[in-house]
Amino acid sequence: MMDGLKQHLIDPEICIRCNTCEATCPIGAITHDDNNYVVDAGTCNGCMDCVAPCPTGAIDNWFQVASAFSLEEQFSWQELPPRPAGPAAVDALDAEAAALIAEAHQGAGGHARAPASASKPRVNLFNRANPAMARVSGNIRVTKSGTSSEVHHIILDFGAVAFPVLEGQSIGVVPPGVDAQGRPHAMRLYSVCSARDGERPNTNNLALTVKRVAEPRADGTLFRGVASNWLCDLALGDSVPVIGPFGATFLMPDDPDADIIMVCTGTGAAPFRGFTERRRRLASSGRGRLHLFFGARTPQELPYFGPLQRLPSALLDQELVYSRLPGAPKEYVQSRMRGRGADLAALLRRATTHLYVCGLKGLEAGVEEALAEIGAAHGLDWPMLSSAMREEGRYHVETY
Ligand SMILES: Cc1cc2nc3c(=O)[nH]c(=O)nc-3n(C[C@H](O)[C@H](O)[C@H](O)COP(=O)(O)OP(=O)(O)OC[C@H]3O[C@@H](n4cnc5c(N)ncnc54)[C@H](O)[C@@H]3O)c2cc1C
Ligand code: SF4
Ligand code: SF4
Repeated sequence: MMDGLKQHLIDPEICIRCNTCEATCPIGAITHDDNNYVVDAGTCNGCMDCVAPCPTGAIDNWFQVASAFSLEEQFSWQELPPRPAGPAAVDALDAEAAALIAEAHQGAGGHARAPASASKPRVNLFNRANPAMARVSGNIRVTKSGTSSEVHHIILDFGAVAFPVLEGQSIGVVPPGVDAQGRPHAMRLYSVCSARDGERPNTNNLALTVKRVAEPRADGTLFRGVASNWLCDLALGDSVPVIGPFGATFLMPDDPDADIIMVCTGTGAAPFRGFTERRRRLASSGRGRLHLFFGARTPQELPYFGPLQRLPSALLDQELVYSRLPGAPKEYVQSRMRGRGADLAALLRRATTHLYVCGLKGLEAGVEEALAEIGAAHGLDWPMLSSAMREEGRYHVETY
């Protein structure tokens, strides 16, 4: 009997008994009887080698348990037992990524939940010790040159390696080299900006939206962010070790009737590009529409400005908002939201509406304030509604 461990379990309802995991495990931790494939908690070392090859995702279950379920118990199951409640339910095993995501989701009040209709995400298939090797197959700037905001669209091709992602998930990278203390760099997370079936349908790749961090220091020199500069400078064909995927809650609803309100600044647009592309490809007859509030200093500094102009308004209702347009007053996303207050209130009254906020830290405070005002003006109790939406997995914040 072992106490307080993360136990690796196979979901008998999803497992198709294909034997791939048993054949893959390098230390014989997986076995089966006539009923189930199971993992021996006393043998499994959590190496994850079996996770990516599993065709169904049945293998990717990790429960924090006080004492391990025995093989006999697992053989008798028709379904997994209920997940332990609260933070003990483990989805992301990588502590470094989990800490970054927990911080990025603080604006959600610590109750981040996936939308009820979201597909089940695969997480943590690759780690620092065992990354997926991708090749750069595209790297272009998506803000106008000559502006201070340099944002790149970077496509990573995984070749024959399966790296399944859902829109809204992130991947991790560790820049090469060491930090000032001589230690390996910390992992950085980047949102996937492509749809689950690739940058083009049925391609085994994903895309990122990366802003080159270059900030003037007090002494007049320029500080260059380590990972973002490395990524933005990658050449076609360069190799990139990729960790993840990560993120089990900031996911889009699969329900085609769901309206999705997306509020972002800068690279916060990345997941929403993925959402939009997914809906565009499905071309479903669902009633749901996408509603984008996207803030930048100028059109030249707004990533994907050109492609956004070409999207039909039936798919995407877009409000592009600029804070530094010459000759025009400064405007921010939250003021445009107030201007669309009646429409937003009508959307928020629907039980099928989902709200997402993504971008720089602090964005959610302004958005919350605007929504509270809109609620007061249109007879909606926003504080009550927002906590209900969080509980129901319909309100999501990711800021960094
Ligand atoms: C869930 C999540 C999703 C994300 N998605 C994206 C995304 O889609 N696109 C994107 O571009 N980013 C994204 N990020 C942010 C990304 O992970 C990185 O934090 C970002 O690219 C900066 O990393 P860097 O290594 O370039 O900068 P770092 O080297 O880590 O520096 C970061 C900051 O530290 C400060 N700093 C550090 N050292 C110094 C110094 N010596 N002097 C002055 N200032 C200093 C600077 O203010 C700088 O901006 C995401 C983050 C999270 C948590
Ligand atoms: S690889 Fe996945 S689907 Fe196949 S037996 Fe193992 S758990 Fe089941
Ligand atoms: S995580 Fe590693 S040790 Fe555990 S069952 Fe899978 S392959 Fe075997």
